[in-house]
Amino acid sequence: MSLKKSGADYARREILQMAGYVPGRQPSPGSKIVKLNTNESPFPPSPAVTRALAQVLAESDLLRRYPDPQSLELRRVAAEIVGCSADQVIAGNGSDELLRILLDTFVEEGEEVAFFSPSYSLYPVLTRLRGGSVKVLPLFQDGSLYQPQLDGIKLFFLTSPNAPLGFSFSNDYIRQMAETLDGILVVDEAYADFALENALPLLDELDNLVILRTLSKSYGLASLRVGLGFAGASLIKELDKVRDSYNLDRLAQIGAQAALEDQAYLQKTVALVIQERQHLTETLSELGFTVEPSQTNFIFVTPPDGYKAAELYSGLEKAGILVRYFNDPQLSHGLRITVGTRAEMDQLIIVIKKLLEIK
Ligand code: PMP
Repeated sequence: MSLKKSGADYARREILQMAGYVPGRQPSPGSKIVKLNTNESPFPPSPAVTRALAQVLAESDLLRRYPDPQSLELRRVAAEIVGCSADQVIAGNGSDELLRILLDTFVEEGEEVAFFSPSYSLYPVLTRLRGGSVKVLPLFQDGSLYQPQLDGIKLFFLTSPNAPLGFSFSNDYIRQMAETLDGILVVDEAYADFALENALPLLDELDNLVILRTLSKSYGLASLRVGLGFAGASLIKELDKVRDSYNLDRLAQIGAQAALEDQAYLQKTVALVIQERQHLTETLSELGFTVEPSQTNFIFVTPPDGYKAAELYSGLEKAGILVRYFNDPQLSHGLRITVGTRAEMDQLIIVIKKLLEIK
């Protein structure tokens, strides 16, 4: 009998010991499920995106060739929109890839990577993959926002607006954190297009600040996998060494560029989401739910006394409506619900009323 280990046993210890990230459920396209579980836009992307993608596909010679390794046109358009220069922008295969690039660029084995809990549950997974040391900090202390001690932290992931609670950190809070931190502050602004304030005005002031955006939510392009990072040009230069040479395929670059160029469409669809967020907040509050004020395209709600979030989740799922339930002591009292179209929200309310036995 061979004494050799099985192939999987050669994996690094960190990998063998970890569970891996579990994304929200993605039912197959065409299914009748009302999908309110992963904060996608309820609207399709701008028609300009479909046109631009069709043009690439019609010219198959383009697919034969490698795309621009620098995603330069896309970065130029992104820079113009936020008012910086293209060398202050990096494009990633989703902002998830940018999180990984940041860890690979800045974090040595054993160095501390901090974030609040609750926030995005991919941070600890990527940190462990990098061999960093995970430091989880509470969001609140004695009912107010926690001011963490930042000594020894190399990189801080600050989700603003917070997911899954939906509130934004003020720019004063962010500025103070970046000034105190002897390391890199990454403000993950995946939902900032739905918020009143964002950290972009701080970009020129703070050279250890990185701001991440994604086209997966407000632009309705989760399938295309495009994220953008903004920072000082010298910092971006270091990140650029770490990314894959062709990290965005041609369709992603062209589609994302077309989406960014249609700011009127973005504003229109974001306004509709905000309107529905208001409507859903009011309706659920009237039904006795506690609704966290939200600056995003989702709301975190706690059901009225006597009702369990886990049971409501199952009841909704049986009725074909998917929302997000977190099996985490800090969040298991509530549900995160992505804001959808008015028709989807009406369907949700009908089922919730039935589950609460309200006529
Ligand atoms: N950050 C946060 C806070 C998110 O919720 C998400 C989406 N799950 C991401 C980043 C990743 O977005 P992308 O689709 O661009 O990888």
